[in-house]
Amino acid sequence: MAKLLDGVAIAGEIKNEVAAEAKELAARGITPKLVVVLVGHVAASEIYVRSKVKTCGELGIGSEMITPPETITTEEMLALVAELNARPDVDGILIQLPLPKQVDTKRLLEAIDPQKDVDGFHPVNAGRLQAGQPALAPCTPAGIIEILERSKIAIAGANAVVVGRSDIVGKPAAMMLLNASATVSVCHSKTSNLVNYTRHADILVAAIGRPGFITEEMVKPGATIIDVGINRVNDRAEMEKFFPDDTSRSDGFAKRGYTVVGDVDPRAFAVSGAYTPVPGGVGALTIAMLMKNTVRAARQRRGV
Ligand code: NAP
Repeated sequence: MAKLLDGVAIAGEIKNEVAAEAKELAARGITPKLVVVLVGHVAASEIYVRSKVKTCGELGIGSEMITPPETITTEEMLALVAELNARPDVDGILIQLPLPKQVDTKRLLEAIDPQKDVDGFHPVNAGRLQAGQPALAPCTPAGIIEILERSKIAIAGANAVVVGRSDIVGKPAAMMLLNASATVSVCHSKTSNLVNYTRHADILVAAIGRPGFITEEMVKPGATIIDVGINRVNDRAEMEKFFPDDTSRSDGFAKRGYTVVGDVDPRAFAVSGAYTPVPGGVGALTIAMLMKNTVRAARQRRGV
């Protein structure tokens, strides 16, 4: 019987630990602070940002939201980042993506002080991660490692296969697994005979962005599956293909008009030894890891 790796419960543990750390810092007169910059009115971004700010409040982390207009220029955003870099009370800077087309996202992310880069996207932090030095690591891959370690799934010596090589998920996940002594293969859209890799994975990380892409026959029996994908399925027939006879999915679909499916066909979980569900798996960890990074950034920058 495959074991469900409960991301919500693990995120809860991490949040409790972060809250205890924030309390201890507060007793010393320090309140870690996160500034979230939300440009314009992208509905999904507004939901994410609200939930980040709310979690800060729950854990005793200070937060501030800055909402520049949709028309802001790269130069104006760079000036804002420079101001936040210089502010001694700010420990973490998060620029919610995507940004409007006229803003040079890459230039902006590189302008953030690496010490305040709680998203872990700055090349300095990517380089430190690669060099095996302490770094603010990207939240989603860091969450994957937390799930594996806290679930006592051995990483050292395991064959880990990461499908996807994005800068925010696939590459850093591969680097973190390598740093933890897994033997890592990174696959992508040009990989030939993908199944040859996935079938030998003790740990299979799917970060592709395609609903149900990894199917049962691609999984080694007993493997641990980490499903990073978050994909909306709007077609009822497709939903029923992934979740036959699942009344709770069907009811949710009827209410919302869609369901969320990972990059792994849910029917593949049955052959695994352990798996992260979607929703309630990796996605649940991301905000908890952001909070953890914020407290870590505060400690490192303030030397406490
Ligand atoms: P991305 O930037 O679009 O990267 C997708 C990767 O998948 C690329 O490296 C691509 O290869 C690879 N790929 C695409 N088609 C493939 C195929 N047929 N065979 C093998 N590889 C293929 O996506 P991302 O930002 O990494 O996100 C991946 C998924 O994770 C998405 O569903 C996203 O919503 C989800 N996500 C979740 C969280 C969270 O849980 N909080 C955070 C971030 C992302 P190429 O490089 O060759 O194009």
